[in-house]
Amino acid sequence: MSCSLCGSDTDVAAFDVPPESIDACSTCRTQIVGDLDPKHWFCLQESIWSEVPAVQVLSWRLLHRLSDPWAVELLESAWLEDDTLAWAKEGLPVEDDEPTTVDSNGTRLADGDSVTLIRDLDVKGAGFTAKRGTLVKNIRLVEGDVGHIEGKVNKTAIFLKTQFLKKA
Ligand SMILES: [Zn+2]
Repeated sequence: MSCSLCGSDTDVAAFDVPPESIDACSTCRTQIVGDLDPKHWFCLQESIWSEVPAVQVLSWRLLHRLSDPWAVELLESAWLEDDTLAWAKEGLPVEDDEPTTVDSNGTRLADGDSVTLIRDLDVKGAGFTAKRGTLVKNIRLVEGDVGHIEGKVNKTAIFLKTQFLKKA
């Protein structure tokens, strides 16, 4: 039995590509769930054309994680059946077209939400410190800037960095 991706026969075992699985060597399996070493993945140039859809699906997902020019080019030229492509895309993190404003936990923020500060913040120009735990009600998103929101602290409208906020 050899690896469906790179052809190695070292410690080959089943690797899940739900709802199916493929045979993959220990190097491939370790890197798929961890960090990819681009040098190992030239093998995708062959596996992306595999006749086994599950192998194509995994190859396509791996190419998406590589930023080297050859990988980007290969991904553009790769051709997958519609069904296979849809399957491959299921494994990608969901991406919104628009960047969204999120708090320090990655929770999406919207106009009118309330947030609390997770650390003391010096408010430049206003001469006070907004204390950790301060509740800021009825925030406004800042158009074109997902790193800040606008809110009132001490009755002063200020911009706050979203990384120091938590949705209340
Ligand atoms: Zn392998």
